[in-house]
Amino acid sequence: MLAERMKNFSGSATVEINNKVAELKAQGKEIIGLNVGEPDFDTPDYIKKAAIAAMMNGFNRYTQVAGIPELRNAIANKLEKENNIVYKPSEISVAAGAKQSIFNAVMALVSEGDEVIVPTPCWVSYTEIIKLACGVPVLVPADEKNGFDLDIEAIKAAVTAKTKAIIICTPNNPTGAIYKEATLRALAALAVEKNFYIIADEIYEKLSYDGEKHFSVASVSDEVKAHTITINGFSKAYAMTGWRLGYAAAASEVIAAINKIQSQTVTSVNSVTQKAGVEALEGPQSDLNDMVVEFARRRIYVLERLCNMPNITCVTPKGAFYALPDVSSCFGKSYKGEVIKNAVDFCRILLTEKLIALVPGEAFYAPGKVRISYSNSMENLEKAMDKMEEFIKELA
Ligand code: PMP
Ligand code: GLU
Repeated sequence: MLAERMKNFSGSATVEINNKVAELKAQGKEIIGLNVGEPDFDTPDYIKKAAIAAMMNGFNRYTQVAGIPELRNAIANKLEKENNIVYKPSEISVAAGAKQSIFNAVMALVSEGDEVIVPTPCWVSYTEIIKLACGVPVLVPADEKNGFDLDIEAIKAAVTAKTKAIIICTPNNPTGAIYKEATLRALAALAVEKNFYIIADEIYEKLSYDGEKHFSVASVSDEVKAHTITINGFSKAYAMTGWRLGYAAAASEVIAAINKIQSQTVTSVNSVTQKAGVEALEGPQSDLNDMVVEFARRRIYVLERLCNMPNITCVTPKGAFYALPDVSSCFGKSYKGEVIKNAVDFCRILLTEKLIALVPGEAFYAPGKVRISYSNSMENLEKAMDKMEEFIKELA
């Protein structure tokens, strides 16, 4: 018999859909996957070369639990230079992806029954990680009319004596919102006043458009920094999803707890990956810049196409590589006699009939919406938008 905690626990919908699409592709189906939450670019060569050199030089053993000092120094330098936050290398813990850093942070902070506020729409893993720690996710809708910025009044109203933390993500998956600096300052003031932590997931930090600037909440003041766990990773900025490398930066007592968890779970992150991570941060950033230019071009294209589809609306995403259009005007209509009741139906029928994979909004607590990842070639995006438009026009 399985543990009690598994009763109310879901596996990752995004990972599940990815697996399903891979299976269909293996059967020879020509699916265009706009479901993917990873860059379609390959890891830059200079990073791969650093890994090969590390391996050939015999850097193949366990490392320090928190990560090699060289990498933690490089991360500390990056956080000071780019994010205006001064963390000592001893206040940084490297993990096998930002997902594991979030898991470690939540396990370190949340006791049974503690509440953790999660603004929605949100990434699929936050609520489930909170539940694994026996905490209670408290969902608070973001301000859709304001580009899905945080709704500070609603967050204030949700704070109770049991509130231990809030998990924020900016730029956001799945909305593409970039929270305004003033909003983040207001959240920071609330966190200090009510004494809760901010777990700030900044994994999409590098992917912002229209001159939008990412702002790190921990940079507000030392007091705010003491209430924040800054999370970041290499998956999105350096197209390193398969390498599994992320980190948490926080006050030393939080990092000490995270390191204990790490020491009893993964021991240490892959040694070769860590060397590659140093090179990613310190090497030339031109591949990253090229990738952002290309994402910016695709974002405009997808947005324009969506806005021209009958009765489809979409809040303009400012960052990451997602759009979250509202397709609820299609509900109640039917395709070949089958009624579309919700976004799950919309995505399922679109996949089987038009071979286009999206993620239904339900996965992100965004019913009525679907997530489109424009991390795909322009050619595929053109085909996919044509087919999606055709599908919507064929609904009766
Ligand atoms: N946070 C968000 C919002 C994400 O979309 C992802 C992507 N998987 C992650 C964290 C985790 O990234 P990784 O574990 O690959 O570093
Ligand atoms: N973050 C990505 C997504 O939202 C990758 C899959 C996952 O880890 O959930 O699709």
